[in-house]
Amino acid sequence: MDLSEQKIGTATVWGGETERFLKGAVTSPIVNSVAFAYDDLDEWHAVATGKAEGYIYSRNTNPTVAVLEEKIRILESAEAATSFATGMGAISNTLFSFLTPGKRVVSLKDTYGGASRLFLDFLPKYNVNVTLCDTTDHEQLEAEIAKGCDVVYLETPTNPTLKIVDIKRLSAAAKKVGAIVAVDNTFATPINQNPLKLGADLVIHSATKFLNGHSDAMGGLLAGKKELVEKVFQFREINGASLQADPAYMIARGMKTLELRIERQNASALKIARFLKAHPKVSDVFYPGLETHPGHDIAKAQMSGFGGMMSFSLNGTYEDVKKFLPKLKLVHLAASLGSVSTLAGPPRTTSHVELTEEQRAHLGIPESLIRYSVGIENVEDLMADLGQALDSLS
Ligand SMILES: *Cc1c(COP(=O)(O)O)cnc(C)c1O
Repeated sequence: MDLSEQKIGTATVWGGETERFLKGAVTSPIVNSVAFAYDDLDEWHAVATGKAEGYIYSRNTNPTVAVLEEKIRILESAEAATSFATGMGAISNTLFSFLTPGKRVVSLKDTYGGASRLFLDFLPKYNVNVTLCDTTDHEQLEAEIAKGCDVVYLETPTNPTLKIVDIKRLSAAAKKVGAIVAVDNTFATPINQNPLKLGADLVIHSATKFLNGHSDAMGGLLAGKKELVEKVFQFREINGASLQADPAYMIARGMKTLELRIERQNASALKIARFLKAHPKVSDVFYPGLETHPGHDIAKAQMSGFGGMMSFSLNGTYEDVKKFLPKLKLVHLAASLGSVSTLAGPPRTTSHVELTEEQRAHLGIPESLIRYSVGIENVEDLMADLGQALDSLS
């Protein structure tokens, strides 16, 4: 079956799972074997040297992990895909594969906290030239890219203030100087946005978030041009940040309901954003689905839904945030996002906890901001919960 011909909701279920599994099993077996045995030494050698298909050792490839890799490859319309133990594994292995000493990367001030630390603390130690631009200043980004660079690293919508970056426009700028474009698509998921179709070369996911969707497994995924993905895969084999069969199974299972969950979360988040925007105790709402959001037009053009993530600030200080959050009943006050249950927290203890207060201020993240990841609960219940907690503030 050629799943690239099918709609996305079909590919989420069948991607990587069209073959008949062991003894006719209708779900992919969890193959927790470290190594794979051969009776014939010539066959073993052919597989080990990449001349025949097969499995040798699970740090490199594994049949359960391969199901997940095939699923994301189809969902992102990519030539190839590979996987990592975490989303940060995907990001760091990708950046370190292409950024050797003397190379240059152009990126955004608002990338995920972990990626931000790679740019601010680690890559410069290896003599990589890092330029971080104001996230929505497309003229500055184009000018920096035009000076010449090797990698353009983007994230949209961004974490936690949901800024929007024009993937098509910046990919075109990167192409002119021969730079590789990598996009962190964690917030949007392949249901809402396909960066490769907009001109990017590589797309990265923290599968820990929406793809798995149940806050019970970690993983990272990379999909894109074959020769680029293979280069990162070869580094990951030796770097060792490999995904194991158990979490790979959990993530592939979670992804079967991806379209259902994302459609629900898109619809609920828009309703909640409008509700918060109209509430007198809320000073600002950051959600790309709101017509008043500065990136709304770009988001509308490049996304098919606006996602389940938003952030908002209270009319008040961090002291009010400390009073408000514990009053919410239908949330986990926890790091992470993209789960079936609603999660909330201030960026200063979640996405950007790795940074200092100074670094957060430099990135334009208010200390009183609340990040809210909408789950699949009934939206009326979620709005009532937010309403009672807001009304309790004096
Ligand atoms: C969580 C997250 C990551 C890192 O993923 P881990 O699986 O925690 O390593 C990267 N990018 C974004 C946008 C994220 O939300």
